[in-house]
Amino acid sequence: MRKNIVAGNWKMNKNFADAEALMIQLLEYKKNNTTNCEVYIAPPALYLTMAKDIFKNAEVEVFAQDVSEYQSGAYTGEISVEMINSIGIDGSLVSHSERRQYHGETDSHANRKVKALLDVGLTPIYCNGETLEQRKAGQHFEVVKNQTEVALFTLSADEIKKVVIAYEPVWAIGTGETATPEQAQEIHAHIRSLIAAKYGQEVADEISILYGGSVKPDNAKEIFSQPDIDGGLIGGAALKIEDFSKIIEGFN
Ligand code: 13P
Repeated sequence: MRKNIVAGNWKMNKNFADAEALMIQLLEYKKNNTTNCEVYIAPPALYLTMAKDIFKNAEVEVFAQDVSEYQSGAYTGEISVEMINSIGIDGSLVSHSERRQYHGETDSHANRKVKALLDVGLTPIYCNGETLEQRKAGQHFEVVKNQTEVALFTLSADEIKKVVIAYEPVWAIGTGETATPEQAQEIHAHIRSLIAAKYGQEVADEISILYGGSVKPDNAKEIFSQPDIDGGLIGGAALKIEDFSKIIEGFN
């Protein structure tokens, strides 16, 4: 069956020393506790090598926050799938809403990035979700359908099985406003049914779909208990070990 995953997206936070300290706290936590979910972190790109070193013997997977759709060449500021692969990184977030909002990323970019990652054997965590205006206009099911189709439906069944999806309603990110477990569940079930209609139920049942948007220690357990929610992509609450560990324990 599909994996349960708690992934921390650190976004653009922490200097080198503070990032190192948090990684060591997470390492200690993992050594001393058994967890009922996979634990991933996505620190800033500058700290990926350090993360790989710190977690070399621990069951914490390390992800980039973004990756180029291009192989190599004159793309100043970008990092390629080959680069992250060559230091043992496990995969990358793709098209987080902040990449969409501030860097003009679309689902066509997402599609190429997902493919580039899969082609070298890395795991994409593909992010989607509607804005507040789209939710207010009742368009959330349609928006998420279009996003999912454009980003993922050129993949083969074997490829899409390797993708992790993170549904993150934009209005719930960093706002303290969480989708209710029921609101999240109905979109997760919707995404899974779209995949089932295109690839078959067996494929759909293998794909982990995470929820992101103001997941905190006090709401994680209820969100994770929904049948189509397989974990969380955590922003702010991933920056303190006390909060992140309690969210991981939402699976206990
Ligand atoms: P917050 O948990 O801070 O709302 O962020 C969610 C997110 O964007 C994770 O990628």
